[in-house]
Amino acid sequence: MAKWKSGRVDRMRVKESKDPYRLAEKPPGGAICKGCSAVVQSGRWTWNQPEGEGVTTMCPACRRVEDGYPAGYLVLEGPFFGDNRREIMNLVRNVAQAEKNLHPMERVMAIRKSGEATLITTTGIHIARRLGESLRRSYRGDLQVNYEEGEKNVRVNWSR
Ligand SMILES: [Zn+2]
Repeated sequence: MAKWKSGRVDRMRVKESKDPYRLAEKPPGGAICKGCSAVVQSGRWTWNQPEGEGVTTMCPACRRVEDGYPAGYLVLEGPFFGDNRREIMNLVRNVAQAEKNLHPMERVMAIRKSGEATLITTTGIHIARRLGESLRRSYRGDLQVNYEEGEKNVRVNWSR
């Protein structure tokens, strides 16, 4: 048992990246986030029930929210967006919910109106890109995706 455990820890150490929000804590037996109840098992975050007595931790997404440090920035703008803001934001919320259900660490942090534009911040880079792609698929328009800091951050701009 002890042998299995140490093997598991080593494997996770290899996968550790330099991103400070990426699994800084790696409890081998699984742990539950005290912020959102996501459960990490073998380095993967899920919405599963914890197995046995869960160690509590704080997941990377909740830490980003607490620190006010987004991974993704998505700006929506343009006359078409202004005229259809309500419908477009409904799509954004639906896609964001589906993404969070599938990938617990990919969440919308905040949605803010800034003049004619809307700024959406996210806890992960994938959800920001996926939201932009959904908008382009549904409404066409222009989509720009720029990764920064070796893909630790992403800036997405959709305009129409
Ligand atoms: Zn959490």
